[in-house]
Amino acid sequence: MSDLLQFDRSHIWHPYTSATNPLPTYLVKRAEGCRLYLSDGTEVIDGMASWWCAIHGYNHPDLNVALAQQSNRMSHVMFGGLTHEPAIALCQRLLQLAPGGLEHVFLADSGSVSVEVAIKMAIQYWQALGRAGKHKLLSLRGGYHGDTFGAMSVCDPDTGMHHLFQGTLPQQKFTERPSCRFDTDFDPASILALEESFKRHHGELAAVILEPIVQGAGGMWFYHPDYLANVRTLCDEYEVLLIADEIATGFGRTGKMFACEWASISPDILCVGKALTGGYMTLAATLANSKVAHGISSQGGVFMHGPTFMGNPLACAVANASLKLLTESDWQTNIARIENTLNSELSKALAYSSVHDVRVLGAIGVLEMTEPIDVAHAQAFFVSRGVWVRPFGRLLYIMPPYVVSDAELTTLCAALTAYAQQLG
Ligand code: PMP
Repeated sequence: MSDLLQFDRSHIWHPYTSATNPLPTYLVKRAEGCRLYLSDGTEVIDGMASWWCAIHGYNHPDLNVALAQQSNRMSHVMFGGLTHEPAIALCQRLLQLAPGGLEHVFLADSGSVSVEVAIKMAIQYWQALGRAGKHKLLSLRGGYHGDTFGAMSVCDPDTGMHHLFQGTLPQQKFTERPSCRFDTDFDPASILALEESFKRHHGELAAVILEPIVQGAGGMWFYHPDYLANVRTLCDEYEVLLIADEIATGFGRTGKMFACEWASISPDILCVGKALTGGYMTLAATLANSKVAHGISSQGGVFMHGPTFMGNPLACAVANASLKLLTESDWQTNIARIENTLNSELSKALAYSSVHDVRVLGAIGVLEMTEPIDVAHAQAFFVSRGVWVRPFGRLLYIMPPYVVSDAELTTLCAALTAYAQQLG
């Protein structure tokens, strides 16, 4: 093992792994397009887009230029009392793209922070209206919203981190995972549990928080748009705000600019992140409609959050360039192309008994296996086949950069299928 890897292994924490006996890491030297170049000369096709982010691929000339030009003007200034063109231009773009009715933007430094901000907005809204008893969140089982405390409290209570932080996490309400698949007829019975939760708890609910259509890290589950449409109706009926966490699904990944569009709904609060900067910098945003923003500020209230790096100009500049690239491209045709290939190639894996289910939506392809996957073994297998795929639990999944070529996509899918085949 090289000295660098040895140091890394001994001293650097990586996500969700032991400090003393960590899962292996691979040393990346550079990245270009859809390829990661490892220090030992291996080249891998990236199936993960660095966890949903790098939608235009790596080392993109337009994004590089945006970053370089902005760094020559101003890398950062505080956002308290100051503002700047990159932030203004980005918020203008976001409001143009976002579902209707969202009119106010809070720039946050990561997805988890944008979720904290959304939760705080919902709670402050009801406080301002003199209804402080409405301070709990209703969340769906199988959901994932981030790793900070408020976000953890609304992640799935069994597969999330609730057991580690019992007694410390805010207590929220949960309802069952939407049982209705995206790709079958909607079963109205699938909404009954949620309706029951509204009936029982609406007096203490500030908001429902959910990932529209695609539950990501909580199980890569795709549910029916009619479920989401029903949630919107119930929220209005029972006076509960709707927070849509589109941190993973936003910016075209599911075939719509935002997954809320599948159900033609608009949330009261929307979280975006990940692909916002094309994978260049950490940046997220929480958007609110005027009902929420004006409610919080009624009677002179102010929203109480203000991170040091709020509205970082470098991140805003690269986000602007990334959104420009996306909106000026024929991204819908491109996502449909990726979806077609994922469908035709991944369905082959159903031939193996190790595969429980195959799901595809937009540029997301999932093999749900019958047994948990050995991550270290699987990663070594994939690297040896020239692809970068990082499974979790029983899930083997890819969401490649949108610039993935047909040949690269076929190689990625073939590697997933080969993995399933060798398990039998
Ligand atoms: N919500 C969802 C749906 C996510 O997928 C993620 C990231 N995995 C987060 C929130 C948290 O974002 P971050 O990792 O940027 O804090």
